Amino acid sequence: MTVTATHCPYCALQCAMSVVAAPQGPPTGPAAAAPEVAGREFPTNRGGLCRKGWTAAELLGHPERLTEPLLRSDDGELRPVSWDVALTRIAAEVRTAQDRYGKDAVGVFGGGGLTNEKAYLLGKFARVALGTSRIDYNGRFCMSSAAAAANRAFGLDRGLPFPVADLAGADTVLLLGSNVAETMPPFVQHLAGARDAGGLIVVDPRRSATAALTADGAGLHLQPAPHTDLILLLGLAHVVINGGHAARGYLTERTEGMEDLIRSVAPWWPERVQAATGVPAALLRETAARLAHSARTGSCYILTGRGIEQHADGTDTATAAINLALLLGLPGSARGGYGTLTGQGNGQGGREHGQKADQLPGYRKITDPAAREHLARVWGVPEASIPGPGLPAVELLASLGAPAAEGQTGGVRCLFVHGANIVVSAPDATAVRRGLQALDFLVVSDFFLSETALEADLVLPVLQWAEEEGTMTNLEGRVLRRRRAVSPPAGARSELWILNRLAALLDAPSAFPEDPREVFEELRAASAGGPADYSGITYERLDAGESLHWPCPQGPDGLPSAGTPRLFAERFAHADGRARLVAVRAAAPVRPSGRGELVLATGRVLEQYQSGTQTRRVASLSAAQPEGRLSLHPAAASGLGIADGDWVRVRRSGEAAAARASSAGPAVLVRAELSLSVRPDTVFLPFHFPGSAAANRVTEARTDPISGMPEFKTTHVIVERAPVQ
Ligand code: SF4
Repeated sequence: MTVTATHCPYCALQCAMSVVAAPQGPPTGPAAAAPEVAGREFPTNRGGLCRKGWTAAELLGHPERLTEPLLRSDDGELRPVSWDVALTRIAAEVRTAQDRYGKDAVGVFGGGGLTNEKAYLLGKFARVALGTSRIDYNGRFCMSSAAAAANRAFGLDRGLPFPVADLAGADTVLLLGSNVAETMPPFVQHLAGARDAGGLIVVDPRRSATAALTADGAGLHLQPAPHTDLILLLGLAHVVINGGHAARGYLTERTEGMEDLIRSVAPWWPERVQAATGVPAALLRETAARLAHSARTGSCYILTGRGIEQHADGTDTATAAINLALLLGLPGSARGGYGTLTGQGNGQGGREHGQKADQLPGYRKITDPAAREHLARVWGVPEASIPGPGLPAVELLASLGAPAAEGQTGGVRCLFVHGANIVVSAPDATAVRRGLQALDFLVVSDFFLSETALEADLVLPVLQWAEEEGTMTNLEGRVLRRRRAVSPPAGARSELWILNRLAALLDAPSAFPEDPREVFEELRAASAGGPADYSGITYERLDAGESLHWPCPQGPDGLPSAGTPRLFAERFAHADGRARLVAVRAAAPVRPSGRGELVLATGRVLEQYQSGTQTRRVASLSAAQPEGRLSLHPAAASGLGIADGDWVRVRRSGEAAAARASSAGPAVLVRAELSLSVRPDTVFLPFHFPGSAAANRVTEARTDPISGMPEFKTTHVIVERAPVQ
């Protein structure tokens, strides 16, 4: 048996694991025994794995694995074809769409689980081989508002600007909208110091598994009304300032914008915050006092997650969390910090290498003339040939199949989807499916027949985690090696191979290497000098066990740097070295109307991951969590005549009356689970499940104007008892 050191295929904690497998044979040879995984010692997981990690090897050799390209035939069925036929057909469809409708008629939708090499080459493929501006990725639904807030405040976005291991010394951790006990369980061990000190403070409208960790004196749980987290944060800032707790010296030396900030939080005194959020004024004061005491005398961290970020004002809410951290003097300090907990496996690297509509590799702005010149040199193309900014994900998806108005560019007519299952994961999923069906041609690359692949004209079977080489960047900005532990099925190909062949067929004016190491070498050059500089990182250094966090430039003396585990110790990334306190204002929260309306928040559960394409196919995970159930407070259920286990129909409230009249409109059909973990005015539904259980059938394509983040946490819905399904 061989033992290969690699990392988990799922979330951004990127727990280290070993894959134990039979020696790799020829690509057609089946493994003698099923591979297994074991946790490996590493700073983020300290040898631990969660249930998803423990069962990850079951994805390898899975009977539903795609092993040959599938083309939709005239009878509507997906049928196997050769790679030659598949690639030739794609090139022809691209040419037809672009000849008829222009370059932007072809779009690309990427994923936050792709390796750095794939994310980089996909961005280059879109801009250089296709010449389209229409590229974005599913990280838009995940990290975009926190990224926008960090860029605005610090001039740089790296999820955690410090190593996870630093949390061991914390006596206070404020965790806002993050349920790590279910989403990344090994992370909980990093909260042990704060729990032991009674300093774990969780803000979540739900009594989540993480909020429950605050029981028995381990900390505090603040349970604000839905979508009042921004007000809560403004209130905490108000108490810190008016209680004389602000770190005056730090603010004077290292920040700008204090006067505006003071004015912006003035309207939010504790009693007014209590009226808006339901959080008692005394608890608000106690929280602020504890944070301030810890920031002065101990070690204090503020961490955010999707709960406060996935809002149509997510950038402002994340900004308010950063403002609070700056008021306490935490970012860049040796006694604490601020960070956001990235979700997807390569959610960090995925947003650095050019998959985003507005960015070029190295985390550069696509509108920056110097960045464009740099990439033009690396790619060997004229600067003017690199398209400008495209459309953020929700707008890109809304454009699918749209005809061109007179004198204007129409929508995307031909779409590539890589590493994303948007029929399940995108907001207003019914409209997304309609958009996909309106396309002239849809190509989906995946290793399982996902719900999005089922809509495709052509499905390309690609490699999965333990079959490929590459790098990932975890939630700390640490670059990791993903290694090949087993042979892939004979008919599957790496996305790098696919992009290489397609680029040749499309006469691309630049080389598209298919070897991951070669791609990484090009990525290093492309990122050099940018905010996310990888130029000093090599496969050799990573394979030698070096711990390398970006920025890690190649020095002018030719010597690579040691990387940057901790950012902002001396200066922030704005030109003047100072952080920005950005005054933000809260709109009045929109309350449920009282006519049976409840507020739906979507989220994750322990045994499933993202759209469930992988975890729903792992028997023991599916057995433990076979379906999405609607968590409903017993008081709300009683008023609606709903008992535990009843089938319920969930509709957007504005559409419920019309839908009742016409029996039309998207609805979710699931069973109810009565639970005291949710407030009487809210319901919670996991988003991992497809079909009529897909939570995103009722979420809206309403987005944050700054980041493009959809509103996933406050959909007003009507819940009704439904006939037994
Ligand atoms: Fe994998 Fe994340 Fe679980 Fe670790 S916490 S085993 S990275 S899913």
